[in-house]
Amino acid sequence: MKFKKIGNKWIVRIDKGEEIVQTLKQFCKENKIKLGTISGIGATDRVTIGLFNAKHKQYHSKELIGDYEIISLSGNISTMNEEIYLHLHISLSDSKYNAYGGHLNSAVISGTGEIVIEEIGGKIEREFNEEVGLNLLFQEKNKTN
Ligand code: FE
Repeated sequence: MKFKKIGNKWIVRIDKGEEIVQTLKQFCKENKIKLGTISGIGATDRVTIGLFNAKHKQYHSKELIGDYEIISLSGNISTMNEEIYLHLHISLSDSKYNAYGGHLNSAVISGTGEIVIEEIGGKIEREFNEEVGLNLLFQEKNKTN
């Protein structure tokens, strides 16, 4: 992995064999990036994507192995229980140029990953919402958000 900071943006190259979610989480932790947006492109050969079933409040996931272009990686950085929390979605295309995607659980880079993180000064904590079944942005009782 390599990176360069320009203004409030971080340009990050993720290398072959590195897993995107863990690499970016560690990167944000080391550089104290607690709030921001993530966008990127690249290639992966092992990816796990998910779909949230809103009715049953459960995530379903699927592992895909093969050559995939990462058409678009997008998401955000926040915190939960003071820990860095990434929420990422991904669009992929396969050898037939079909596209699909979902919530990103993990993806191992096969070629390169070219990511831009835009840092937003400040911090927003997440909190689990029982009604929705997800960790939502903002704490209901915390006036500092
Ligand atoms: Fe999601």
